[in-house]
Amino acid sequence: MAEMTKYDVLKTYFGYDTFRDGQEVLTDALLSGRDVLGIMPTGAGKSLCYQIPALMLPGITLVVSPLISLMKDQVSALNQAGIHAAYLNSSLTPGQYAKALENMIRGVYKIVYVAPERLMTDRFLQAVSRIQISMVSVDEAHCISQWGQDFRPSYVRISDFIRRLSPRPVVGAFTATATKEVREDILTLLELEDPAMLTTGFDRKNLRFEVERPKDKMRAVMAYVSARRQDCGIIYCITRKTVEDVCSQLIREGFSATRYHAGLSDEERKKNQDDFIYDRCRIMVATNAFGMGIDKSDVRYVIHYNMPKNIESYYQEAGRAGRDGLPSECILYYSGQDVVTNQFLIDQMNGTEDMDETTRELIRERERERLKKMTFYCMTNECLREYILRYFGEYGANYCGNCSNCLTQFEEKDVTQTARCLLGCIMESARAYGMTMIVDTVRGSKNAKITRCRMDENPYYGSCKEIPVYQLRQILNHLVLSGFLILTEDAYPVLGLTQKARDVLDGSVPVLMKAAKERPKASVESKAGKSSAKTMDGPVDEGLFEKLRALRMELARKEKIPPYIVFSDKTLVHMCLIRPASKSEMLQVSGVGEMKFKKYGEAFLQAINE
Ligand code: ADP
Ligand code: MG
Ligand code: ZN
Repeated sequence: MAEMTKYDVLKTYFGYDTFRDGQEVLTDALLSGRDVLGIMPTGAGKSLCYQIPALMLPGITLVVSPLISLMKDQVSALNQAGIHAAYLNSSLTPGQYAKALENMIRGVYKIVYVAPERLMTDRFLQAVSRIQISMVSVDEAHCISQWGQDFRPSYVRISDFIRRLSPRPVVGAFTATATKEVREDILTLLELEDPAMLTTGFDRKNLRFEVERPKDKMRAVMAYVSARRQDCGIIYCITRKTVEDVCSQLIREGFSATRYHAGLSDEERKKNQDDFIYDRCRIMVATNAFGMGIDKSDVRYVIHYNMPKNIESYYQEAGRAGRDGLPSECILYYSGQDVVTNQFLIDQMNGTEDMDETTRELIRERERERLKKMTFYCMTNECLREYILRYFGEYGANYCGNCSNCLTQFEEKDVTQTARCLLGCIMESARAYGMTMIVDTVRGSKNAKITRCRMDENPYYGSCKEIPVYQLRQILNHLVLSGFLILTEDAYPVLGLTQKARDVLDGSVPVLMKAAKERPKASVESKAGKSSAKTMDGPVDEGLFEKLRALRMELARKEKIPPYIVFSDKTLVHMCLIRPASKSEMLQVSGVGEMKFKKYGEAFLQAINE
C-alpha cells in the first residue's frame, strides 16, 4: 500500500476520480502529521478526509464516533470497498467485543471505530498500548461542546486518552456545526496542536428549496409522491399524530411508506428505519426524532409537512436529501397553524433539571427568536438559499436560480400606496401593536379588540378594504425585512417605524416589492412518473436504470446490506450514460473501484450488455 498515492487510493478503494472541495487539503495535512479541524456541511464528504490518510499511514486509525448506527454504516461501506475495518461499541456481545479487540491487536484492521465511552476503559487502554496508533479522528466533534446540540460528556475525555498514547498520533476533528463557541471548544478541549482549519461553504447546490402554501396539505403530498413513485423521500411532520395520519393515508393509497416517531417501541422504530434504509419502503414519514446518523445517500426529496421550529433544524433535516450530489428537492408546506403549534411547543419547553427559571426563560426567548426567523423564511420573496446562507453568516449571490422564489418569475410591484396606509396606521396608533391589529384596522374589521382599542378611530381605518389579508401581511413582512419597520423581540412582537418609513410617508421614497407571480400548475405534472435522479445528466434509458436498480436490490438482499452501499443512484445513472462494455470501461464509472468491480462488476456488465 505504501507506493499508492492518495489519488490511487481514492480511485481504487472509493471509485472516485477527483477530490471534492476541501478534501485534499485536509488529507494532505493529516498525511504530513498536522492536526486538522474540518468544518463541512452534511454530505460534503468528511469521512474520506480521514479514511484516505488512514489507509496510507503506517499504523492503525481510531475513529471516535457518537452513534452506533453511524459506525455500523461506515464500517460496512468500508468493508464493501475492500478495507479491513471494525467497530467497538455496546452493540457487540462480550464475545464479539473480545474477538474484535484481539483482531485489532493482531493488526487485522486498518481503521477501528470506537464509542467514546470505551476509550478510557482498562481493557481498551491495554489493547492500544500494544499497537501503533497513527491517527485519532474525532467525527461529529461538536459533541464535545456544551454549546452544541448533542453534547456528550465522554467526548471531553478524548484528550486524556490521546495524552496516554506515545508517540502522540495526529488528530483530526470533523463536524458540520460552525458556530464560534463550538469551534473554540473543539480546539481547546481536544488540545489540537496548530491545526489546519478548513471551513467549506454551507451551500448545497444540488438541493432545490421550495416553500408552498397548499390549501390541502394531504392532497399536495399525494400529488407530489405520485409523480415520483420510484424515489426515496422523507416527510417530516411536527406531531406523532400527523405522522400517523399521513403515513396511513399514503399506505391506503398504495404507496410504499413507513413511519418513525418516539411513540413507537424501539423494536418497531428500528425495523421501520431499516425498511427505509434497505429500500423496502420508499417513503419515511417521521417526526424530527428520525435522522440522526442516517447516511442514506439517495434520498431524492425531503418534504416538511409542517414548518419546523428553526432554520438550524430545517437545514439539517432538509440536508438529508441528495447526499450523493444529485438534484434533490426540499419542500416546505407552510400554514399559519404551524407557527401557533411551534409557539405552543416553546411555551411548554422545560429545559433540563439543572436549569433555573431565568435560564429556562432565556432559552425560550432564544427559541422564539429563531422561530421568527424560520417564519420569515416562509414569507420572504427573496432567494430562499440566500436567506438560509445569510442566517448562517454567509453571503452569496442574491439569486440562485434553484429555489421556488428565483424560479417563479419575480415581478417588481409598486406597493407604495398600500405601504403608506400600513405605515400611517402604525404612526397614528396610540400605542404599538402587532401585525394582526394593524391588518384588521386597515381592513376595517369590526371585532371587539378593534373597538376596545378604538382603532376604528384611526384615520387609516378601512383604508385597504379590498386587499386580501395575506397580501397585507406580505407587505408588512416586506417592510420589516427591508428595514422600514422593526418588529420587537417579545412574546407579543409589536411593530415600530424607522426613519426610512418616514421617507415613505412624506412621499419621497417609493416601496417596491418583488412579488412572485402565480406559479404555473404544470410543473408537477410534467415530471410525472420520472425519477428526479435520472433527469440530471440528460436522457437516461429508464428501462436500463430500473433493471440495474433491481439487480442492485438483489445483490444487496443477498449480502444483507443497504442497496446504496452496493452502488449509489449516481453510479447507476453514470452506468446508464456510458454503458460500459468492459472492465476498463466499467472502472471509468464514478463510484466503481477495483474492489467493487471484483464483487459486482461482472453482474452489472452483463445486465448492461444484454
Ligand atoms: P459527511 O460525513 O460530510 O456528511 P460523507 O463522508 O458521509 O459526508 O459523504 C457523503 C457522500 O459523498 C457519500 O456517499 C460519499 O461516498 C460521497 N463522496 C465523498 N467524497 C466524494 C468524492 N470525492 N467524489 C464523489 N463522491 C464522494
Ligand atoms: Mg459524517
Ligand atoms: Zn434562489
